[in-house]
Amino acid sequence: MLDLLKTHFGYDSFRPLQKEIIDHVMDGKDAFVLMPTGGGKSLCYQLPALALPGVTLVVSPLIALMKDQVDALCANGIEAAFLNSSLTPKEQGAVMERARSGHLKILYVAPERVGAFGFNEFLGELEVSLLAIDEAHCISEWGHDFRPDYRNLRSLRMKVAQAPIIALTATATPQVQKDILSQLGMGKSQVFISSFNRENLHYSVRPKFNTTAELVALLKEHEGESAIVYCYSRKNTEEVASQLKRAGIKATAYHAGLPKKDRERAQDMFIRDEVQIIVATIAFGMGIDKPDVRLVVHVDLPKTIEGYYQETGRAGRDGLPSECVLFYSYADRRKQEYFINMIDDEDEQKLATQKLDDMVEYCQNTVCRRFFLLMYFGEFTAPTSCDACDNCVTEEAELVDATEISQKILSAVLKTGERFGAAHVCDVLRGSNKQRIVELRHDTLSVHGIAKGVPINALREYVQSLKTYGYLTQNTGEYPTLCVSQKGRQALAHKSPILLPKLKSIKPSKTKTSRSKSDLDYNEVLFEKLRALRKEIADEQGVPPFVIFGDRTLHEMSFYIPLREDSLSNLFGVGAKKLEAFGETFLSVIRTHAQEHKLEEKSAPEKITRTNTVSSGALSSTLEETKSLLAQKHSIKEVADERGLSHGTILQHIEKLLYTDEAPDLEHIRPIGKDAEKIEAAFKTLKHPSLTAIFKHFNERYSYDELRLVRMFLN
Ligand code: ADP
Ligand code: MG
Ligand code: ZN
Repeated sequence: MLDLLKTHFGYDSFRPLQKEIIDHVMDGKDAFVLMPTGGGKSLCYQLPALALPGVTLVVSPLIALMKDQVDALCANGIEAAFLNSSLTPKEQGAVMERARSGHLKILYVAPERVGAFGFNEFLGELEVSLLAIDEAHCISEWGHDFRPDYRNLRSLRMKVAQAPIIALTATATPQVQKDILSQLGMGKSQVFISSFNRENLHYSVRPKFNTTAELVALLKEHEGESAIVYCYSRKNTEEVASQLKRAGIKATAYHAGLPKKDRERAQDMFIRDEVQIIVATIAFGMGIDKPDVRLVVHVDLPKTIEGYYQETGRAGRDGLPSECVLFYSYADRRKQEYFINMIDDEDEQKLATQKLDDMVEYCQNTVCRRFFLLMYFGEFTAPTSCDACDNCVTEEAELVDATEISQKILSAVLKTGERFGAAHVCDVLRGSNKQRIVELRHDTLSVHGIAKGVPINALREYVQSLKTYGYLTQNTGEYPTLCVSQKGRQALAHKSPILLPKLKSIKPSKTKTSRSKSDLDYNEVLFEKLRALRKEIADEQGVPPFVIFGDRTLHEMSFYIPLREDSLSNLFGVGAKKLEAFGETFLSVIRTHAQEHKLEEKSAPEKITRTNTVSSGALSSTLEETKSLLAQKHSIKEVADERGLSHGTILQHIEKLLYTDEAPDLEHIRPIGKDAEKIEAAFKTLKHPSLTAIFKHFNERYSYDELRLVRMFLN
């Protein structure tokens, strides 16, 4: 199998679970495969197809993708073809003839073909050795993408009963999963589920402030790479696209309101690397299988974590480092609440609110983003160090003097009677004359308008920091209200200086995130030359550039500078067929460049190890301090008091320590007793065990901090 993998695909190792699944299928057994986007599902049927006699039938709903998939297989020297409505009857006849004569190894068919006239007869003439159902969730009415035509597959399965069946999907709730198995008549024992962790994706959340400038900077960092910018509404897509144009960045808007022709053209140009940036609503992406999207940005808050995970999942399918950035502001939540309130069905409304709460929690949370997402999908991972999310890599913030603004905020909280949330307090400070403020006569308070000039995002951030540093407390509940803590009262009374982290929303965030350069320090000039060559060949052959060679392969070429065919063949993605078809062309460009620049070939180790090294940088000093106090068996409260930080902040520290594997022995703070057991059980049984969900599950009986503490000890 490894030989086939290298010869036909140019890869020299399997991704997780691929080998197990392939062995299973080769044994003639059925398999159900649940793997995230980019996990490498196709290979699970493509490789057996090569090893088995006869033909493998692949049912896929995405007609637009079939051609690209078949082109990619053909470029690898695999006999493949497709049957769908985009072919003329004559072309279809030719494909069927090739299939009958036994020349095809892989045949893609659209689901509506399966029920079409004459298909059964055709099927009878084939030797089908494997049946693959891609995007298998389409068979279930419970799924989000039900296709009635998928119901035909049951009868298809009966007709090729001798062949094993492999069903694949990236999205299946337990309910949909059960449905797929029963619809296709598959047993239970054959389910393969891989981790949904997308290691190569870097996640970050930035305050939504100066968004255009930040977006422009971000896109410039990713110049020359493919990027998708998601917006909430159709109107927004066009606005953002034209803002980008004004800043000198070429971007194309995409939404369901555009004529079909325009949409297809935009997709096509994107796939062919003629347009690098698409500004779209979530309508964009389903029919896109582009492996080298390097950046996915959300400029508006997504509605659900499921949606967010799916949209960001379109980045980095090829496994190279790629970035996902979300611009968050609390105001976005308000905007969406407005729409949710218009939903008639009460249950639906509740559910939508819950999902939105979870999304907001993701944005506001300070734990590892990856850990949060995996927890949400019910995957309990062992604490590992993630060096690829903002919460794991951001440096400890620099503290600056914020005494004056802090005093204003604390006074406003006191003067309004400690009965309001941050939004209201900020409105008062900024001198708003909203009806509610006038009704409450808060416009007559001495604090009304004393922070007029401070942007709302900045005020929000100060309030957040005052909470973090224990000057303010916030009770949780449906209407969270702010109170001034003992520490805050004392600071006010003694006019003591208050130090807070420098504002993030004022200066553009400096988290260095351009991780999209691969771990190889390759020659960029050569890379650009090879990329141009790739595009030229692709256009000539009428296929997308990635079908010729992926980015990873070009990176390796421009790092190892292979001058001979055998050294080229050692590289990632260079199989026998591609070596024969494109080897000389690429070698000649590499040789010329090497000569001009006096470069020598670097010997590539026989097999290049491509493990991603995870560096766990040194702990920041504040974490070190918390760590050493905990190691001396102090309680969380003692540590908080000693350090002058809030309880919640210490919990954050502990979480960080856990995820970087740096935690001291913490047995003395492990929560025990009936309550802890109940909470633990809830985390393990709820479908989406986010903190908010658990909080509500217990009718707000436990505080967020209590829940978080239990969560830490789950593993
Ligand atoms: P999925 O269908 O699960 O979203 P694909 O089958 O489209 O994922 O694979 C995603 C990308 O990963 C493709 O570019 C594919 O060539 C690549 N890939 C799959 N398996 C391997 C492997 N073992 N080694 C390297 N790359 C792989
Ligand atoms: Mg796929
Ligand atoms: Zn992380």
